[in-house]
Amino acid sequence: MKHVAAWARPFDDPVLLPGGRELVNLRDAADYIMKLPKAEQNLDAWQTAVEPLLLVVELGGPTMMARIGMMRALNRNVERVFNPSRRQAVAKAKIEERRMKIPRGKYIAKNADPHKHEPEHFIKCETCGGWIDFRDLGSVFDHEGPHSLPSEDRMH
Ligand SMILES: [Zn+2]
Repeated sequence: MKHVAAWARPFDDPVLLPGGRELVNLRDAADYIMKLPKAEQNLDAWQTAVEPLLLVVELGGPTMMARIGMMRALNRNVERVFNPSRRQAVAKAKIEERRMKIPRGKYIAKNADPHKHEPEHFIKCETCGGWIDFRDLGSVFDHEGPHSLPSEDRMH
């Protein structure tokens, strides 16, 4: 896939920003991150959002993965503002609608930063306490939505 075309791929659902604007495609998401104030941009949440974005552009995998990173970063401060039961119900319905099992190791970020230390590629899952490898789409999907610790992660 051509680079420009890869960045123009839309999200399944636009990413809604605080204030009502929407990020429609991968390029919008990248532009949004790039325009953040430097201090904000350097936060772990955004650093973590960039990686799946690059991965999806690089591999042409489901844009949902990049969306997850964006939503996590955007929602990190406002999580408690929403009515949690409503939010969870909507999230659950969306995930069940699209649920698919992606095997571990099938979609791997080839362009993951080789200068990063190995632990920096992982983020702790708030649901099950396991570690999500953001270079591995299968790992990201396994930790999305209501779930228990995936069997693949029990040894970590
Ligand atoms: Zn988990």
